Amino acid sequence: MPTATKAIYTGKAKDIFETEDPNVLRAYFRDSATAFNAQKKGEIHDKGKVNATISALLFNLVEQNGIKTHFIKQISENELLIKKVNIIPLEVIVRNIAAGSLCKRLGMKEGKILKAPIVEFSYKKDELNDPLLTRAYIKNALEITDDKTLDYITDLTLKANEIFKDFFLKIGIKVVDFKLEYGFDKDGCLLLADELSPDNFRFWDAKTNEKLDKDRFRQDLGNVEGAYQEMLKRVKEGSKNFSTQSSKPNSQSFSVRVQVLSKSDILDPQGQAVEKALTSMGYKDIKDVKIGKEVVFKIKSESSEKAKTEVNQMCERLLANPVIEDYRIEITG
Ligand code: 5GP
Repeated sequence: MPTATKAIYTGKAKDIFETEDPNVLRAYFRDSATAFNAQKKGEIHDKGKVNATISALLFNLVEQNGIKTHFIKQISENELLIKKVNIIPLEVIVRNIAAGSLCKRLGMKEGKILKAPIVEFSYKKDELNDPLLTRAYIKNALEITDDKTLDYITDLTLKANEIFKDFFLKIGIKVVDFKLEYGFDKDGCLLLADELSPDNFRFWDAKTNEKLDKDRFRQDLGNVEGAYQEMLKRVKEGSKNFSTQSSKPNSQSFSVRVQVLSKSDILDPQGQAVEKALTSMGYKDIKDVKIGKEVVFKIKSESSEKAKTEVNQMCERLLANPVIEDYRIEITG
């Protein structure tokens, strides 16, 4: 049980507590289960322990593959220490196989393998039943964030999907779909947050298509606890190989060229000075001179897509100032 302090936030399956460090929180995973926006409620024996442990192992997995998360460490069977983040009120959903609300929305048969993974955004708002959002809703109606951040989140999420698919395939599981949440820490760094468990993933056995996730509870399929325990067993098995997986056995070298220029509406004094000088030398037909920088380096990665995601992160965090600068990434190799 959690210690006697009062939770600062009580969610549908987790309680969040402050710690002595103002930038660190403690998440306690309960056994309570809800579905259909809490219209259906119940308990799944030991779900808290299973979800805390699977989350810890999967946060480690993605961290080792270059995705920053809020996870610090697991401090008891039910509890994780996490970095405090400002959660972006978006549910970022990835789908590899048609199921759930996609089938309902499009009248599609469950189980269709999608031509390519789909990333979609829902508004994290229980009162509204987490409605599906368009980019225009996010940017111009709700003003949650901009295109650049959405592109970055999409890249990170697709990268996470590849990491999960690889990992779960090795333990005989298909990753049907899942929901992620992101937040910004005190330094403005975007971190993967919330949890990674059978509560927010659909997992099917690769051979039998047996459902091993919260759909067993949602759809009254029985043996809910057994499914959660089976997932814990398999994730623990798969996790034994983490460190060897993260050495990237199939990595190759790519050449990277990043061009950084100030945004079109930002004053560029150096560009203006050069423009003035060129004009006075007789080059009268030039305008909008911008002076930028070019950064070149080599990177080892498993694919150019993965390299691009990593370089994107570098641009957002160091190579460019996304508030006033645009950047262009070229990857060859
Ligand atoms: P769907 O949109 O088909 O209901 O859900 C897609 C995926 O996102 C499923 O794996 C589901 O578990 C997850 N998901 C969607 N909404 C929520 C939510 O509000 N809470 C949790 N824990 N998972 C969600």
